[in-house]
Amino acid sequence: MKAQSATSRAGWCFPEGSIEGRMFVAPESVAPYDLYDLDTRRPALLRTLPLPTHHAVAHAMHAAMTRAWLIGAGPGDVELMTLKATRALAQADVVLVDDLVNRDVLQFARADALVLYVGKRGGHPSTPQAGIVAQMLEHVRAGRSVARLKGGDPFVFGRGGEELQALHAAGIDVEVINGVTAGIAAPAAIGIPVTHRDYAQGVVFVTGHGASSGEPDWAALAATRMTLVIYMGMRRLAAIVGALLAAGMADDTPCAAIESATRPDQRHVLARLGDFADAVARAGLGSPAIVVIGGVASLALARAAAQAKEAHTADAAAPLPTSESDSP
Ligand code: SAH
Repeated sequence: MKAQSATSRAGWCFPEGSIEGRMFVAPESVAPYDLYDLDTRRPALLRTLPLPTHHAVAHAMHAAMTRAWLIGAGPGDVELMTLKATRALAQADVVLVDDLVNRDVLQFARADALVLYVGKRGGHPSTPQAGIVAQMLEHVRAGRSVARLKGGDPFVFGRGGEELQALHAAGIDVEVINGVTAGIAAPAAIGIPVTHRDYAQGVVFVTGHGASSGEPDWAALAATRMTLVIYMGMRRLAAIVGALLAAGMADDTPCAAIESATRPDQRHVLARLGDFADAVARAGLGSPAIVVIGGVASLALARAAAQAKEAHTADAAAPLPTSESDSP
């Protein structure tokens, strides 16, 4: 496995006279012993010692003690996972996988790891939150290390906080490993910087779900004039847009919805607030999607307009198709 071979080929070295450890990863073409072969390596490398530093020892001890990780797997693109996440995953005996996690990230897990799917989709019945925590506790208490993989960042919606509380209450130490949250990655995937200073002084991450915490105060949010990034907002989009318009938000406010961001099937819709809900419905966009409302979305709208213009000019300049160029 790729990640494991990289790890097994890594050694801990430090340049002479330095107290700071640094990670040394051998290029694939170099056999491990070559790294320390005094006849063949350059002077800089000769001064390195293949000894674990204090830093490395502390790291290894910490890893050995850690029995549970709460890991953010990022929005979908496997390459958006952190190195720390892949390293923890490579150590876990048991991996509990959430809905939105791209299954491809399991390439970083051990081949013999027990993988449990606890999400609602993909034909698997949803596991109640208490059941997920109970499973984690059971494995940790049996001496197995447990990685809980969640989509995006574990602490941005998605109940990571609740799982942490429950594990802490049971006396379990948990290492939290951040992930790239969809609320930043999805807009970025279509060129929207959520806090571009020409357009916004900040960004609000808000759930469109309503649910137990009640309806967000859309009028108060509209008044902040900050970028609104709405998670889980697709089902109630028309009502949310209606509430923002009723609160006085301009109907030409730029908006975007990005479905399955950073995945091969990513799709998006760009529109002004007044047409937004209809445009999303016409395109048939559904979950999982991130909604962005605010001036920053004009960057994507402007780019789409420029691209459409370019395509139009290119079409106009293109020679008339011949029967030959028409053929496949
Ligand atoms: N912890 C996650 C969010 C979990 S809530 C994170 O930090 O990203 C689930 C919601 O996240 C979805 O309803 C959707 O709004 C959003 N989401 C997650 N992954 C997404 C993706 N790849 N593209 C678009 N939206 C996504």
